[in-house]
Parts: sequence; structure tokens; C-alpha cells
Amino acid sequence: MSQEPVRTLYINGEWRSANGSGSFAVTDPSTTEIIGYASDGGRAETEEAIIAAQAALGPWSSTTAYERAAVLSKAHALLRERHEELAQLLSQEQGKPIRAARTEVTYAGDFLSWFAEEAKRIGGVTIPSARADQRFITMRQPVGVVAAITPWNYPISMITRKLAPALAAGCTAVLKPAAQTPLLAAATIRLFEDAGVPAGVLNMITSQRAAEVGDTLVESPIVRKLTFTGSTAIGKMLAAKAATTLKRVSVELGGHAPFIVMPDADPVRAAKGAALVKFLNTGQACISPNRIYVHRSLYETFLATLEQRVGALKVGKGTTEGVGIGPLIDNRATEKMESQVGDAREKGARVVIGGRRIAVDGLDGENFYAPTVLADVTPEMLISSEETFGPIAAVAPFDDEDEVIRLANDTEYGLAAYLYTNDLSTAIRVTERLKFGMVGVNDINPTSAAAPFGGVKASGLGREGGYEGIDEYLDTKLVGIAV
Ligand code: ADP
Repeated sequence: MSQEPVRTLYINGEWRSANGSGSFAVTDPSTTEIIGYASDGGRAETEEAIIAAQAALGPWSSTTAYERAAVLSKAHALLRERHEELAQLLSQEQGKPIRAARTEVTYAGDFLSWFAEEAKRIGGVTIPSARADQRFITMRQPVGVVAAITPWNYPISMITRKLAPALAAGCTAVLKPAAQTPLLAAATIRLFEDAGVPAGVLNMITSQRAAEVGDTLVESPIVRKLTFTGSTAIGKMLAAKAATTLKRVSVELGGHAPFIVMPDADPVRAAKGAALVKFLNTGQACISPNRIYVHRSLYETFLATLEQRVGALKVGKGTTEGVGIGPLIDNRATEKMESQVGDAREKGARVVIGGRRIAVDGLDGENFYAPTVLADVTPEMLISSEETFGPIAAVAPFDDEDEVIRLANDTEYGLAAYLYTNDLSTAIRVTERLKFGMVGVNDINPTSAAAPFGGVKASGLGREGGYEGIDEYLDTKLVGIAV
């Protein structure tokens, strides 16, 4: 425990220690060195935060959309001012390359600006009645107190993607960020605080007791909405618990994206795209391609380009300029890479490049795994069904369209899918048959604050961003008026 009093709980407008001053260490995943401490909040502090959010709800929901938009715009302006310092902290605390960290901070800002605008577009409709003496109108009102639980892999944009629409809608919130990235979460909350978000409207409980804080949030009858991004197992469990108080729920969970290269596609362009999207964030993304299916006629060309691209990736500490791939979040993640590669090898996969832990920059390499390409991957291998969340590209050949669509859809997940083809009919036909929430066609980044992000099946419920993003925080009230 640190000597300094640690105050990363933000409750009713004040930065506080946990009761008893409990704290936990935050480490740099590159070096495993301690870079700071965060307060370890529990049930009592979470209950206080919920009460604060409840008390703030009336006044905040009574502000005009224009006032709320102004606060969000101010938060966006502050984010731009602090862009580099946020990116540096993100890269250090989470490990992603500084260039990717800068991109993520910009993306986080996009949600502030998008939902600042969307706040002004919360309107209802008039509906014709069958009765001559009746009129219908709808009002859209904030759902109330929101519980937001966020992951470590996109530690700033997942916060703004939830808090910006919640605030825009007139809701108040309690945030529990991931225990791996509480320092950036605190810096993010400071943006809102400095932008003038009133006391109690936003609250944060940093904690390493995720289950205790999570249960307090989902069991509370005051909390009317749960928004969660994380693993499917935890998301399902929280959604089930939230059902006992019938909360609104949106959960963005795991993925197992297929990446399909049709016979008419350019295999070199597709391989370059695969190398970029697969190794983004060291593969620690829910939209990361987990299965790459390449038509047999293009297979060897694709693999050769992929190998060359992956071989050129510079691995190292995220904060070092020019690094393209950073560490995994922890040793458990690195062990998962070893288990998936070991299993694939045993079952006949070919290791084209990588396939082992590595030491870089004189660091002990505990969390570093070489960017890896596996060829001849089959459905029986663990990597074909289990989410990898790491730097391993698993490639397999296919022969015809029906076969590849069947393989692609053969997963419990349904978040992102990628398709390479130069034929418009193929693009539309295959896209329609893919059971996923998002499809990139010759495109490796089908995401934007302006576009709805989300999945089907075990990948979750609801959409974030886009026109739909704010709906998750609004209830529709029907008013029938006799005239
Ligand atoms: P990951 O495997 O990406 O860490 P998790 O689902 O474990 O995904 O974590 C996502 C978020 O959920 C984090 O904020 C984490 O602290 C939180 N979390 C983990 N376990 C629980 C739980 N039992 N109850 C509530 N929140 C949890």
C-alpha cells in the first residue's frame, strides 16, 4: 500500500479515499512496475455513490438539452487540451502503443461531441388517434440512475461511450472502471468535473472488488439501467441479476470475428488489412478477427504477405515511439496465448511466424508474446471457438461460399465480421447471411461515434454510439390527451 492517501473515489463531487483507506497498486504491463495506487471502494462507498446520483437526478434531468450539450462540449474541449497527457497515461497504464493511445483518446472525444449534439435531438412524436376527441404524444425521458461498468482494453473510450449519452439524456451515473486502469478513469472523470458537471451527477468507484461493487450496483432498486462492456460470462451474470429489479440493460460482450477473403479479392490488400486489424491493441479487442478464412486459390499469397507484415511489427513498451505492438495486459493473458498455440500445434496447425513469449527492450517479457500467424487452423482447435484477445492470427483455407458462411456463423458470438471481395453482389449476399452486428466490407474499422456499435447472440444487447446510442438511456412516455 502507498504512503500517500489515495483518493480516486469520486462521490458527490468529492475525491475520496475508501473507508479504511484501502488501496490497490496499478502496474505498467510492460514492466510490471507499480505506477500508482487507486482507492479500493466497496459496498458502502458504492451505496453512497448511488444515493448521490439519485439526489442529483432531479436537478440534472431538469436542465435543458442545451445546457447539458454545453457541458459535454466543454469536456470535449478539455480532452483536446489534455490529449497528449491522457494518451501517455493510457499507453503506460494499459500498454497500447502511443500512436494507438492517441487514436483512442480522439475516439473518446468523438463520443463527447456526438452526444453533445444528440442531446438536442431528443424529441418525441405525435400519433394520430382513432378517436376524434383524442391526441397522442410521446415524451422521451431519462431512465434515471445509470450503473456503468467498463473494461481495461479501451479504458477511456468505453467510459465516454457510456457516460456521454447518459449525461446527454439527463441521467446521472455511477461508474466502476476496470481495476487495471483506474488512473486514466480518474483523469477522464476530471474532464467532466472541470467541465462543470454538478456534484452527484457522475460518481466513480475504483475497486479491485469487482463482484462486490457490481452486485451493489445491479441489486440496487435505485439504479434503473446497467451498461456493461466486458466478458460474456460476467455480462450474462450481471444481466441476470439486473433482471430481479427489471433494469434496462445494455451489454457489449465478447466476440469471435471471422475475416473472409473471397476468391475475387486482392489477397495482398486483404493481408495488409488483416495485419492491421488483428494486431491492433495487441489483439485485445472484442472486434479483433479470431478466424481468418482465405479462399484456397489465394491462400499462399495471403499468408506470405501476412507473414511479411507481421514480421515487420515492432514489439515494445507502448510509450516508445514507433512501437506497433505492446504487451498483453497480464501474465494470465500470455498464458492463454501459450495454451491456444500449444493446442493448435498439437492438432496440426503450422506456426508461420511467432508462437512464443519474447523479451523486448531488456524487459523480462512476462507479458510480451510474439505476434503470431498460425496456418491450417481447423474448427477443432481451441482458437476456433475461444476468444483469443491477443496477437495471434489464425488462418484457414476454404473452397466455397456456403462453406465459409457456415464456418463464419459457427460461433456463439456475433459482434464484428470482415469480408474482402471486389464483387458488389457477393458483398451484399454474404453480408446479409453473416449473423453479426457489424460487418466491414474491404474495411477494417467499421466503427465510429456516429455509427451503432454492438452485437447479436452472446456478443450482447443494445447499441452504443450512433442515433441508437442515446435510446439506451431514455424511456418513452406516452401521453393520451382528450380534447
Ligand atoms: P475482462 O476479461 O476483459 O477483464 P471482465 O468481464 O472480467 O472482462 O471485466 C469487465 C469489467 O467487469 C471490469 O470493470 C471488471 O472489473 C468488471 N467485473 C469483473 N467481474 C465482475 C463481477 N463479478 N461483477 C461486476 N463486475 C465485474
